[in-house]
Amino acid sequence: MAARFVDVALPVRVDTTFQYSLPPGAEFPPPLGSAVEVPFGKRRAMGYCVGHSDIPKVEGIRAMTAVRGDLPPIPPTLLKMAEWISWYYASPIGMTINAMIPKEARSSRERGRKRVVLAVSREDAEKAMNSLRGRHEAQARALEILLSTEGGAFDLAGLAAAASTSTAPARTLARKKIVRIVDEALDSLPWTASPPTSGLALTADQESALQAIRQSIESREKKVHLLLGVTGSGKTEVYLRAIDTAIAAGGQVITLVPEIALTPQMVGRYLSRFKRVSVWHSALSSAQRRESYRAVRKGEVDILVGARSAVFAPFERLRLIVVDEEHETSFKQQNEPRYNARDVAVLRGSLEGVPVILGSATPSLETYHNAIGGKYVLHHLPTRVDGRSLPPVEIVDLSTEKRRGTGGIISERLRILADGTLSRGEQAIFFLNRRGYSTLVQCASCGFTYKCPRCEISLTFHRSIGRLVCHYCRYGVAPAPVCPECITGTLRKTGIGVEQVEKAVKDLFPEARVCRMDSDSITSALEYLEIYKSFVDREKDVLIGTQMVAKGFDFPFMTLVGVVLADGSLNIPDFRSAERTFQLITQVAGRAGRGSLGGRVIVQTFRPGHYSIQAAKTHDYAAFAEKEMEARRAMGYPPFGHTARILFASADGSLLAAKAAQISSLLRDGLPAGVRVLGPAPAPIGIINGKRRSHVMILSDTVKALHSVLSRIRQAVFKEGKVRIAVDVDPADML
Ligand code: ADP
Ligand code: ZN
Repeated sequence: MAARFVDVALPVRVDTTFQYSLPPGAEFPPPLGSAVEVPFGKRRAMGYCVGHSDIPKVEGIRAMTAVRGDLPPIPPTLLKMAEWISWYYASPIGMTINAMIPKEARSSRERGRKRVVLAVSREDAEKAMNSLRGRHEAQARALEILLSTEGGAFDLAGLAAAASTSTAPARTLARKKIVRIVDEALDSLPWTASPPTSGLALTADQESALQAIRQSIESREKKVHLLLGVTGSGKTEVYLRAIDTAIAAGGQVITLVPEIALTPQMVGRYLSRFKRVSVWHSALSSAQRRESYRAVRKGEVDILVGARSAVFAPFERLRLIVVDEEHETSFKQQNEPRYNARDVAVLRGSLEGVPVILGSATPSLETYHNAIGGKYVLHHLPTRVDGRSLPPVEIVDLSTEKRRGTGGIISERLRILADGTLSRGEQAIFFLNRRGYSTLVQCASCGFTYKCPRCEISLTFHRSIGRLVCHYCRYGVAPAPVCPECITGTLRKTGIGVEQVEKAVKDLFPEARVCRMDSDSITSALEYLEIYKSFVDREKDVLIGTQMVAKGFDFPFMTLVGVVLADGSLNIPDFRSAERTFQLITQVAGRAGRGSLGGRVIVQTFRPGHYSIQAAKTHDYAAFAEKEMEARRAMGYPPFGHTARILFASADGSLLAAKAAQISSLLRDGLPAGVRVLGPAPAPIGIINGKRRSHVMILSDTVKALHSVLSRIRQAVFKEGKVRIAVDVDPADML
């Protein structure tokens, strides 16, 4: 007899599924994974059928309304992945499924044909917003919403609704050319196809890695291959050929890259090589996303290149998954479900019986540990292709530099090298991973500092808009001419940001054609492409930027990289701060000397002896890993232990304390051996947006024990209340 009840996962923050009986007249339950419509409270809701049963679990079960035959069901593998993610990352099943399927694929209605995008840089938009404030409040609000949206784009009707107004303000902004209203079907990104490189003879190292990977593809081994190759060692070339093999065998391929690496240059290499390619990135319009999802599901696409969510592509003939720059923390989703796409890729490979390639010049210690322990297959690509050498890295000790009085932002040594580079007509990068002009504005006499009134954090001065800005809640204020506290003291700007580097470079090299690239100056893929092109065409000489410039660029005339301050990231209270520092320096150093002219790297630091900086100097990943492993082992941190972080946030401090105490005592009650619970303690950033924050850390020797402890609090943490609780397993962010 067929089952009479179905379990439905609904997109609500509750750790359970909901049982319904079959609709009147139905003999068979809908297949698992079907989209269904059910009564939920007083309304109707859309969910997915995730279970069948013969026995009612409660009384008064209601009948489901309909099976949504117009919507695609979730394939069985994805359903299994959803269950695993829900368990592993302690996220409600309904919300997990929701995150796996783009919202365009969850409704069959066509909506939002028009999209509003910024037509000017973020900085100019911010200026416009400030001048509209008070006079044209609706327009200012619309701009504010656009500015707070990733990619700076919004559906026209949605924007009107979010700003609680009509579409008129957006249309006025469009007339003023501050925004553009585009027909989303017509708006596509300007990818450039680069010349195909399939004719290259592989190096011996590339060849041996490729052979092993091909073997796995052909015999459907669920092996994980780690390509540990220095920057410019030809990793991408190996991916491309492995993908060739998978497609030739009739298979499909997912390639995950960090969003920031989805550059025209990178995507161009895939477009020139393969025919049926689809690209998922955050700037896609909803029409484009819907169309691409449909094509992927119908098997009209051989290879999907995308960020995080591409790991959920509903492919049915998957043969290979590639994760490029596997160490990138942007693979970790920062809201529920807080999954790491790299780890989900490995899970999917194992569920589907297909190989996974992880590639990086600076693998995460978790991945490296798995590789040297034999869980993954390790392939080394220790040299750059074509006999090019890695650029020599020189360290400039800023503490002695200061004493000699040659200090400032650009050291004597860096200035001399940059001078030479520019006079030879070559190009340079100056890297500093800090937005704005100055990170601290302080009164010289009374010590007052500008802080965000809503967050426990200093405001950053942005010179381009003449305002102090909070990087957490976007609060902004114009600085006073004198200290607003003691009324007499002068305000001093300390803590350099990338805007200040730009000014210093322009002052030192007035002739140089300089260009800055960070999330304040760049809003669209189009602007990014323009800057990229201007460097290829050698219309620009110096690129200054944050981590946006540390990836993906391959310019043959880029012969100098200056890291303006290497140790800023070492001071962040996070056990991964040394790893991040090493990764960033190594990645940005890798931009130098990719052509036949060679290149050099200067690293300015106050901590020249730190092992992360020393190892970056010698391009020695193994040396770094060995040192860092010692420290992690001593503390029981990953990869030697497993961590979860439970973050509490509330406007009410005493409720917060009570809740954190309640949850941590649930955790501590009969703690299994090998598990430690630390806290509750205030989070490093104690207040954000007026909400106090505190956290509890769990450290466990085994995954199993970690999850047995987490399972005790699942019910309690998903209850909506005055305290917001977030469970983060394998957290990437400790602030
Ligand atoms: P990675 O991904 O490790 O940074 P890439 O695959 O991008 O390295 O290779 C760097 C450059 O070298 C690219 O321009 C690529 O076309 C080229 N290249 C890759 N493999 C070879 C090879 N075997 N011979 C010559 N050039 C190569
Ligand atoms: Zn703030």
